[in-house]
Amino acid sequence: MKGAVLYGPRDVRFEEREDPKIIKPTDAIIKIAATCVCGSDLWPYRGLQPVNEPTPMGHEYCGIVEGVGSAVRSVKPGQFVIGSFAASDNTCPHCRAGYQSSCIDREWMLRAQAPVLRVPLADGTLVATPETPSKEMIPSLLTLSDVMGTGWFAAVAADVKPGKTVAVVGDGAVGLLGVLSAKLMGAGRIIAMSRHEKRQKLAREFGATDIVTDRGDVGVARIKELTKGIGADSVLECVGTQESMMQAIRATRPGGSIGYVGVPHGVQLDGQQLFFSHVRLHGGPAPVRRFLPDLIDLVWKGKINPGKVFDLTLPLDQVTEGYRAMDERRAIKALLVP
Ligand SMILES: [Zn+2]
Ligand SMILES: [Zn+2]
Repeated sequence: MKGAVLYGPRDVRFEEREDPKIIKPTDAIIKIAATCVCGSDLWPYRGLQPVNEPTPMGHEYCGIVEGVGSAVRSVKPGQFVIGSFAASDNTCPHCRAGYQSSCIDREWMLRAQAPVLRVPLADGTLVATPETPSKEMIPSLLTLSDVMGTGWFAAVAADVKPGKTVAVVGDGAVGLLGVLSAKLMGAGRIIAMSRHEKRQKLAREFGATDIVTDRGDVGVARIKELTKGIGADSVLECVGTQESMMQAIRATRPGGSIGYVGVPHGVQLDGQQLFFSHVRLHGGPAPVRRFLPDLIDLVWKGKINPGKVFDLTLPLDQVTEGYRAMDERRAIKALLVP
């Protein structure tokens, strides 16, 4: 079997890897229907996160169960399943509290940019669809493995409520799906921050009412202007840089909430500034497992089409081009088909 392996900055290779097999009785093996490149894959790809050894890549996946370990009860061969980028038992106290991505037995998924994948803790991690989905539905189901679930969590963490004003920092797949999530939660006004025409268009399609093209001080000033000097009730931070985090904090009104889901890189917060800002901060790796059943239902009934974030589809063996296209911002998100 061949899969994607990252060797160092801008050096991802499609090369021979060991065939996955069941190691523990709680494992499942799935045949991947579609996988993709994530914005978070770009941190190590760009050399902004060290790569100490050749690393098999990919953590977003869906497909057909091929085999299960002897202890697996809730999924069976032949079913179409989707799982989170964090495997979880879904039974420990953190899971029961809705924080499956902090599961006591958590395992980060890797190796999904491949035709076959081993999923640990299959009972807790995987959720089956009612039937085998149509080919057209697969991209939307794939987004539930991470980006749609993460955008949704950002909106939940930012306490988006009907009629409220929401600002979204970041126009990657997660930011755009954060817009869609805020729309579904009934936000009255959704301000998307983007300077990229194609992404602005998709943001509008997903429910953005206003677009702010400025960043930093000017971007914050624009949001203040649009909200009569008050600031947004809820801000979704979907980037993870110092600039984006400060933009989020400063664009939020006193008493408002920020959901931050961009993996922070080099972010330093000043205690006093945070204290006097009077905002709530909640975020982290999204517990997408919590939202999977509801989001599968929304996709299944045709109520949402988050798969629109994939504007590039490639055969899996062209995975290196997927990374390049996203790195150069030629593509929002690259879908890979084995
Ligand atoms: Zn991801
Ligand atoms: Zn758990």
